Amino acid sequence: MRRFGAMLPLVLLFCFSSLVYSQKQTTLSASLIKEIQSRANQEYASLDQLYKHLHANPELSFHEEKTAERIATELEKAGFTVARNVGGYGIVGILKNGSGPTVLVRTDLDALPITENTSLEYASRVRVKDDQGNVVGVMHACGHDVHMSAFVGTARVLSQMKDKWRGTLVFIGQPAEERVGGAIAMLSDGLFTKFPRPDYCLAWHVAADLPAGSAGYCEGYALANVSSVDLTVRGVGGHGAYPHTTKDPIVIASQIVMALQTIVSREIKPIDAAVVTVGSIHGGTKHNIIPDEVHLQITVRSYLDSVHEQTIRAIERISKGIALSAGVPENRLPIMKVAGDYTPSTYNDPALVKRVAKSMQAMLGAEKVVQREPVMGAEDFGRYGRTSEKIPIAMFLLGTVADERVQQSVRDGVPLPSLHSSLFSPLPEPAIKTGVTAMTAAVLDLLSGK
Ligand SMILES: [Zn+2]
Ligand SMILES: [Zn+2]
Repeated sequence: MRRFGAMLPLVLLFCFSSLVYSQKQTTLSASLIKEIQSRANQEYASLDQLYKHLHANPELSFHEEKTAERIATELEKAGFTVARNVGGYGIVGILKNGSGPTVLVRTDLDALPITENTSLEYASRVRVKDDQGNVVGVMHACGHDVHMSAFVGTARVLSQMKDKWRGTLVFIGQPAEERVGGAIAMLSDGLFTKFPRPDYCLAWHVAADLPAGSAGYCEGYALANVSSVDLTVRGVGGHGAYPHTTKDPIVIASQIVMALQTIVSREIKPIDAAVVTVGSIHGGTKHNIIPDEVHLQITVRSYLDSVHEQTIRAIERISKGIALSAGVPENRLPIMKVAGDYTPSTYNDPALVKRVAKSMQAMLGAEKVVQREPVMGAEDFGRYGRTSEKIPIAMFLLGTVADERVQQSVRDGVPLPSLHSSLFSPLPEPAIKTGVTAMTAAVLDLLSGK
């Protein structure tokens, strides 16, 4: 009690000084905030049409030809110089406006092979053949149409407000996020060398459980490293009535599935996050046949690269060890393949997140910008922060759902349709307007030179 009493003036001093500090953090004046708001409102009718057009005309990853062309044209109309076909259908729009920092804003362009089940007037009815030749429905079930509409709106408003900032805007439309090939393709095609090198990279991703009109932020690791691991557990097949003449891969695979769960619980440091999920197990054809092999499909997730490597090596070691202990011959040990679709974790630069969250709070109101927990989902946006240039990056979450629906879901315990659900339907107006105003505020603050 006495000690606390002695500390109280210090605590108050700290609180007061941090308050003063936080007020000084953003360079956005009340009149600037008003101007952003009114320009975003003026643009909305056209952005709504753009959104509905994009929603009704989605394209699969690596096939975003028309989408990229539309976004490129929109950027040109807003005064940007646009390069097309950067890393596939990627586009890079540049707007130079004197000397100052360079800020990159990224939208993704692609949609998913999902048949839309919403009853929206502008629902997608698109059917295409996928790369395997199957006819699939196509849907913007991950909200990339919201990202694109907010991105175009932000480009327009920043272009109209050129008298309020100095520097360079790099607005990129990235293909193939869903198949995590777009960011690496754009980087390999010279995104940071052929075009002005950014000082900061920013992006939105919609959230399916955050009220429209609000935004979320997460400092540090926000999204996971992800690898897909295929494991073929081989045995020696035979008749189900004579198990003693076989090495049963179904029993061996079952032991492996259980033992893999000890990697996270017994091998990884408790404060480091990791996931090992066996999502698929297939083997055998009939009651009385012991098959030759069983196939496992495993997703491995972590934040730290060292934990990722450790987990994959442990899967290999444990599966080999169990096969050996079952007496599987050396030439029939399990085969492990790590697929090429590795996605690196996304690390949101803490200083950048703090600064941008401040401008978003100034724009939207402090209660509308909330801290969110990191998740084990994946995004290839993380790659922009992992090049040798070590550019600070930050991805923010954009609310999409009517507040009443969020409240009701909390009351009833019934989850809302998630991202990648055929029923996901964002509320366009508040989501897009918030996407435009909050991102414009963030970029203006970063380009204010202070
Ligand atoms: Zn997605
Ligand atoms: Zn997405």
